[in-house]
Amino acid sequence: MGKLTDKVAVVTGGGRGIGKAIAHRFAAEGAKVAVVSRSESSCQSAADEINQAFPDSAKAFAIDVADTEATIAAGKLILEAFGKVDILVNNAGVTRDQLALRMTEEDWDVVLDTNLKGAFNCVKAFQRSLLKAGGARIINISSVVGLMGNPGQANYAASKAGLLGLTKALAKEFAARKVTVNAVAPGFIATDMTAELNDAQKETIIKNVPLGVLGSPDDIASATLFLASSEASYITGQVLTVDGGMVM
Ligand code: NDP
Repeated sequence: MGKLTDKVAVVTGGGRGIGKAIAHRFAAEGAKVAVVSRSESSCQSAADEINQAFPDSAKAFAIDVADTEATIAAGKLILEAFGKVDILVNNAGVTRDQLALRMTEEDWDVVLDTNLKGAFNCVKAFQRSLLKAGGARIINISSVVGLMGNPGQANYAASKAGLLGLTKALAKEFAARKVTVNAVAPGFIATDMTAELNDAQKETIIKNVPLGVLGSPDDIASATLFLASSEASYITGQVLTVDGGMVM
């Protein structure tokens, strides 16, 4: 028996990077997984890859989580396809880095609408099913940047700090129905999002990581699986930092 046998999970941003690693790990532990990403090609190829390893465990859904109406409508399709949702992982995220002095309203809106409102939209889309499931889980993928700030990322830091507030408020609201709500705050993880950093930037980051290396998507998948599993049933409203010791 896997740790998530008979569970249904929705993983946003599951097409690539951290989300794909989470979706893959959940399927390995017996879950059925709705793999959500913005583009059809991305979520479909991730779902195909997962199904090759664990037949019939994943379905792809192309959804822009920043679009409230589209997310609510697609949420209904996911519920029709799987019958319920036990675990929601709000992982979809984008960056539009720029110093605040030069940051445009559009840079601000795209990042806040995707990273923060997108999570709220998904909670709204699945809240009834989550509240009914008994022992459901919401896991929001924040960032160490939401805890400590970062120059050039005012929009991103605000969205990720906002996710922590959302996590704690929902943890209090949903506790009576035994739904736990937690956040994972990754440090610097090797994905497409960080691939644009040049070697000098990577070296500077690694100097500030006590464990001396960038993290991998699997490191975040492990922490997320723990919070999704029955082993974490008495943990709610918490932020699990997975960052090689950057923030302590
Ligand atoms: P990637 O850029 O590799 O992947 C992002 C995923 O999010 C993609 O699948 C993308 O879809 C999806 N996505 C983006 N916008 C939307 C949207 N509007 N609607 C639906 N899906 C969307 O990111 P990472 O894997 O690196 O990051 C995943 C999460 O972890 C993000 O929230 C990020 O902020 C956070 N994080 C990452 C860190 C890192 O160092 N990498 C550090 C700290 C936090 P598509 O594939 O279709 O483009």
